[in-house]
Amino acid sequence: MSLIDFNKVTIGYDGKSVISDLTFQIKPNEYVCIVGENGSGKTTLMKCLLGLIPPLSGKIKFGDGLTQNEIGYLPQKTVLQKDFPASVEEVVLSGCLNKKHTLFYSKEQKKTAEKNMELTGITDIRKNCFRELSGGQQQRALLARALCATTKLLILDEPVTGLDPVASADMYNLVKNLYKEGITVIMVSHDITAAVNNATKILHLSKDNYFFGSTHQYLHSDVGKKFLITDCPCDDCRHHHIHNLA
Ligand code: ADP
Repeated sequence: MSLIDFNKVTIGYDGKSVISDLTFQIKPNEYVCIVGENGSGKTTLMKCLLGLIPPLSGKIKFGDGLTQNEIGYLPQKTVLQKDFPASVEEVVLSGCLNKKHTLFYSKEQKKTAEKNMELTGITDIRKNCFRELSGGQQQRALLARALCATTKLLILDEPVTGLDPVASADMYNLVKNLYKEGITVIMVSHDITAAVNNATKILHLSKDNYFFGSTHQYLHSDVGKKFLITDCPCDDCRHHHIHNLA
């Protein structure tokens, strides 16, 4: 059974399509990376998945008991990160708010927040002020916050933007571990090398078409080859699909 089923979905704004006729299925416990050039529609697709914009045509179905309210979402870096006058714990807990719109948290919600702080390795800094954390710690807290909304599907929009290489690797490892624990991951990334190193499936959006398939199929596809090899001057790369220095 599919967790998400897109059938000939066209998405856009004011009747003008950005992505046309998109058909793909995501099964439970897959790790899908959405890649593509700037302006190819990655954010637009995210918005549609989150129910923020309706499709212009086509059918979107959620299966395996998933509803649009139960998606954990880590948005692209926002001003929120600079200006949040709250403790780490408060930021994480706020991920539990959407259901009852109350400022009081239940015991169960507090337990969920604790578990997710544990999972993301921020229990020690739970009382710290969010805006005084490093970029990597802030992303961990926001990931824990997103996890409070879901046990099934996590959507991440460019989660390593602005992070140094160590914090980036940390973030990718953390997400991979969540996937190994059974959560389904959809990640938007402009880093195709990171995408193929982590994901089980790739959705590559281009101006007038798209590729959806396993990472292996992607590496052997024209679009995958084009984006992974042609720009690399290294001789060895002609014999390998991924250039580790990319
Ligand atoms: P990506 O995330 O891949 O960079 P976007 O989804 O942000 O791409 O944008 C895809 C296209 O949709 C672009 O041509 C952009 O100008 C257009 N677009 C994005 N947001 C809006 C909007 N709110 N109204 C109209 N057009 C938009």
